[in-house]
Amino acid sequence: MISLTIHGTRGSLPGATPSPIFGNESICAVARGGGTAAILDAGSGALAAGAALLAEGRTDIDLVLSHLHLDHVIGLPFLPQLLRGDGIVRVHVSERYGPDPGAVLSDLLRPPWFPIPLSRLPGRLEGHAFGDGATLRFGRLAIETAPLHHPGGATGFRLCTGGDAVAVLLDHEPGDAQADTAARHLMRGVRAAVMDAAWTPQEAPGRVGWGHGCWLSCIRLAREAGAGAAYLSHHAPARDDVALLDEERRLRAVWNGALLARGGDVV
Ligand SMILES: [Zn+2]
Repeated sequence: MISLTIHGTRGSLPGATPSPIFGNESICAVARGGGTAAILDAGSGALAAGAALLAEGRTDIDLVLSHLHLDHVIGLPFLPQLLRGDGIVRVHVSERYGPDPGAVLSDLLRPPWFPIPLSRLPGRLEGHAFGDGATLRFGRLAIETAPLHHPGGATGFRLCTGGDAVAVLLDHEPGDAQADTAARHLMRGVRAAVMDAAWTPQEAPGRVGWGHGCWLSCIRLAREAGAGAAYLSHHAPARDDVALLDEERRLRAVWNGALLARGGDVV
């Protein structure tokens, strides 16, 4: 059985709005299954995710990135595994960024934007590029991948072990036929899907091409794919708990299999 602990629910910018209910860290989750674990995305929630794995004795970890936008990588240099001499972080990311993801990330996390070059942190970062549609295997945990519809590209995931499957689709804007087919394929019959519902249905028509969905388009896709439940995430940075609870009431009236993800949720 897979468990997915959500350590970050906020899209685009962490910390913008106090949010004791839904959380304020940007996108990150820990997947556990088949006796192993992997971190999915390294937004500001990565500090807590890495610490949780370190508490289990995991100094050597796998991190799978959907894409390299800041809300998905800003926590990378704060992974506790990179701050100790025996730490290893294997970063897996699409080959769309080139053959050496380590070089791309070290170019981002260096002066003048970050005080210490990634290469001078005590732990070791190893980059591994994968092709679109590749299946990554970490012991008995398999992660199927497929490209989503997002500016610059993003990768969706289907996590499988022992007959259980959970999908994670961040970030995805429904409406592109080919990418929607890939999204439905990743979500086919999953127990639950974590999806990008940054917008309300009222906001979405004014934000076409920004790379995110609304809860109504997510619910349609999840139900077409036969997903058992949907955790809608990537909350807009300025949306407070009152507004999120209000949206959640509306979306649950459409499908009570969906809810808005809260930081700390375990799928
Ligand atoms: Zn994002």
